[in-house]
Amino acid sequence: MHSDAIPTVIPPVSGVTALAWVGEAPADIDCQSVELYSQDQLNLIKQDIIIVQSCANQDQILCSLRQQTSTSLSLILIETPSLLSPYLANGQWSGEWQQEYDAFIKRKKLWNLKPNNNVELMLLSYLWLHPEASMLPRKVPVQPHLYEYPLLALWGVKSCNQVEWLNRLTDKGWLEHLQLENRARFSPCCHSSRLNYLDTCPSCQSIDFQLQTCLHCFNCGHIGAETQFRKQSGLECPNCYQSLRHIGVDYDRPIENHVCKTCHTMFAEAPVSAQCLECNELHELSALVTKNFYSYGLSLAGQLLARQGVVANLFADSEGNQMSLAQFCWLAQWQNKLAKRHGQTHTILSVKLTDGALLSERGMPLHQLETLQERICSIVRTTDACTQYTEEGMLFLLPFTLPGCLSSLISKFTELQETFTLPLHFDFRAVGLPADTGMNFQQWLMASLAQSELINR
Ligand SMILES: [Zn+2]
Ligand SMILES: [Zn+2]
Ligand SMILES: [Zn+2]
Repeated sequence: MHSDAIPTVIPPVSGVTALAWVGEAPADIDCQSVELYSQDQLNLIKQDIIIVQSCANQDQILCSLRQQTSTSLSLILIETPSLLSPYLANGQWSGEWQQEYDAFIKRKKLWNLKPNNNVELMLLSYLWLHPEASMLPRKVPVQPHLYEYPLLALWGVKSCNQVEWLNRLTDKGWLEHLQLENRARFSPCCHSSRLNYLDTCPSCQSIDFQLQTCLHCFNCGHIGAETQFRKQSGLECPNCYQSLRHIGVDYDRPIENHVCKTCHTMFAEAPVSAQCLECNELHELSALVTKNFYSYGLSLAGQLLARQGVVANLFADSEGNQMSLAQFCWLAQWQNKLAKRHGQTHTILSVKLTDGALLSERGMPLHQLETLQERICSIVRTTDACTQYTEEGMLFLLPFTLPGCLSSLISKFTELQETFTLPLHFDFRAVGLPADTGMNFQQWLMASLAQSELINR
């Protein structure tokens, strides 16, 4: 398959051979541009592009290459797919690889983030260098955590913590959800997915009960199995000996048609609970922990970070004046309490860039993005507010402001919209404080913003 696929001239990059080939050399390959490595020499590979020849332990090779610092971010191509290749490799080796390689080198030149073994920054770098890659969850049904992200596992993030870890990066605005791949439930006792769903007797929790056709005597109110009512002459109540002729007049069939074999209680429906198979504990379904497994990609802010190499956010000013969403909520909640006590009015404004993904897809030039970032920062700096960027947008806490008096801040964003050639679109929503927010302020805030009307400009 290689005979016409490989171009004969490959430019050497700063003295290092361009390609590393793991396996036996194909006969027609140009020896000057390719360096061969055996499976025992993986630790010697320094190249940016690595081809792994099909072999029985391909997955093991991919794991080793991703684990060692020198090749963790390299462009790795494979001959044939394997179990882990969708998660650890960057596609199949083909005649078109030269273009792929050039694109990789171009992106590498623009990349200014130095991860220094920081796994968060390594992931951002990986997604920057391989723009078609995403963090995909892999199903591992034999494991109690059900899904894992193989690259993160290799980089030392424990499988049971990976979802929280990725969501933290999403909270920071660096990653974004691409698609919801699956949802699963885990026991609150040991976070296991090995759950047995049990229907039980509502009175004694026994699992031993059966379906039974029952009758209800109107004369004395007795309820019992239909077999106890059957006599040769017809139906007769075993309690009051009344003969039962007409359904609806003398008797009916109650909805309680389950009988517990342990405590003999009759009931209509057996409630379902979840038994943790690790420790046998029974949990109500509402007590189970729900986890969403998404695929993740680099957000606009994440792309900027990978390019600029400074931990900045599209919406944070250069002094890094940014608080976490939890801090923002704590502050807003505290202001809410004060507002209630002293009769003050505050507003939380959300500004959302609605087509951020679209901008990066269409390839908004990064220098334009950088200008956009600068301009947004200057708005934030000159406003007496604190902000936090979430998937819901930029959040501003505006003290002593009525929701109706936001026009000056909004007009600053509208002006910004007009100075860019590419279509920028911001959505504005606002909620007022004080409010009855319930126990979970963040949940209240997100729900209230979602329900609030878009502010017309
Ligand atoms: Zn358990
Ligand atoms: Zn029972
Ligand atoms: Zn009766």
